[in-house]
Amino acid sequence: MSRPVRVRFAPSPTGPLHIGGVRTALYNYLFARKHGGTMILRIEDTDSQRFVPGAEDYINEALAWLGIGIDEGVREGGPFGPYKQSERRDIYREHVKMLLDAGRAYIAFDTPEELEAMRAQIPNFQYDAHTRDKMRNSLTLSAETVQKLIDDGNKYVVRFKIEPGRDVEVNDLLRGKVVIKSDILDDKVLYKSADDLPTYHLANIVDDHLMEVSHVIRGEEWLPSAPLHVLLYEAFGWADTAPEFVHLPLLLKPDGKGKLSKRDGDRLGFPVFPLEWHDPKSGDISSGYRESGYLPEAVVNFLALLGWNPGDDTEVMSMDELISKFSFEHCSRSGAKFAFDKGKWFNHTYLQQISDERLAELFTPLMAAEGVDMQAFSPEYVAKAVGTLKSRINFVKDLVEQARFYFVAPTEYNAKDIAKRWKPGTSQLMERLAVILAGLDDFSAAAAEPVVMDWIKSNDLHMGNVMNAFRLAVVGECKGPHMFEITEILGKDETVRRLRDAISRINEPSV
Ligand code: GLU
Repeated sequence: MSRPVRVRFAPSPTGPLHIGGVRTALYNYLFARKHGGTMILRIEDTDSQRFVPGAEDYINEALAWLGIGIDEGVREGGPFGPYKQSERRDIYREHVKMLLDAGRAYIAFDTPEELEAMRAQIPNFQYDAHTRDKMRNSLTLSAETVQKLIDDGNKYVVRFKIEPGRDVEVNDLLRGKVVIKSDILDDKVLYKSADDLPTYHLANIVDDHLMEVSHVIRGEEWLPSAPLHVLLYEAFGWADTAPEFVHLPLLLKPDGKGKLSKRDGDRLGFPVFPLEWHDPKSGDISSGYRESGYLPEAVVNFLALLGWNPGDDTEVMSMDELISKFSFEHCSRSGAKFAFDKGKWFNHTYLQQISDERLAELFTPLMAAEGVDMQAFSPEYVAKAVGTLKSRINFVKDLVEQARFYFVAPTEYNAKDIAKRWKPGTSQLMERLAVILAGLDDFSAAAAEPVVMDWIKSNDLHMGNVMNAFRLAVVGECKGPHMFEITEILGKDETVRRLRDAISRINEPSV
């Protein structure tokens, strides 16, 4: 059966999108692009109790940041809209009626108290073929009574009538065929009159059908719902065009056992959300990959490999490469440990690939936020400066400390380095160096370095002592990139000025 590939990412706006949800979105996207298909973003907001303001915008922003493109959705529009379930009430009402008319669903009036009483009375009570005839529903009440109860404004739900004794087959592209006895399923609520909204199960099935979804790619936590979904497709008469299922393995804790949780992130110091999230109720702020300095392409690459591999040991892949290599054949069925250190490694690797200009653009606002007047520096200067430190960082934010000396001249000097490197005679030596440097016409590293080296050698000076004192004066501590790369960027005037400032500020120990 070949049909156009149409996949959907169907989050519920109940909070920030979890990193596991991002991976689900990514796999949907990779699969859609690989097969020239369509990626749908459907907002499943039928649970009004759990609706969180801002969550939908957050989802859109996160997907856009990561470059996970949407073809049809709330913002993008498309021929199968609306793409937000709360705007599709009429469609669901009509479909609930179809099931009721066909005898595949029934109306139930049991109050929460009545259900509670049954649970207390019958161990492991579930609403199903064995118990439904003891309950207050349209199967046990007369048609007139049912109508009267509805007319009198009694709240009701519509339940799916599961036939017992059936073997329900779920075909999953990753897991193969799973067979489940229908007897273990309960008569799930499909619709609630109280808010005139369907539940997840009904809305999800109806929309997947109407939106002509070919593959349902979602997290493993939805696998237990799949048999019910199979029966619903069948009840509607849609079994022939039911989508293929792919239930992706869980993301697991980096250490120990079990599912990755927000607490693991807090405990081990990594974000579990793509973007920073400000909880509108509690005011709590949860960190995000974007704000923690990750490049979106690094996050995408890292997530792609949590549950999939390209069939060889290639690790660094652009979105286009991921698309061309992606297939479910190389998806694993078992959970993927969330190796966040690997995420850092990816970020480091991607930082080496971006241009110094882009790195400078990412860095400038971070440094400005520290109160440094970045307007005073040309973009070329900033780009050159950060370029010298690229290989030493995992995150753009690491530059705030490491590149600071390019933008703020030291006024204090590392005390340990002073003790070790600023010996009797050093001030005088540095003054001689300042004179030599001040006399250079060409201050490039290529020109300045040999001059200074010759001076050291011909005067029998100690290389380490000279160069470390020089570095201490210019940088404020004895670390950083190659010294003559630094001085070339700072320029002659600034280098000489820093040397003389250090001479006047650092006291030599008395002999
Ligand atoms: N709304 C569900 C969620 O929040 C969708 C599950 C599915 O993809 O079927 O993940």
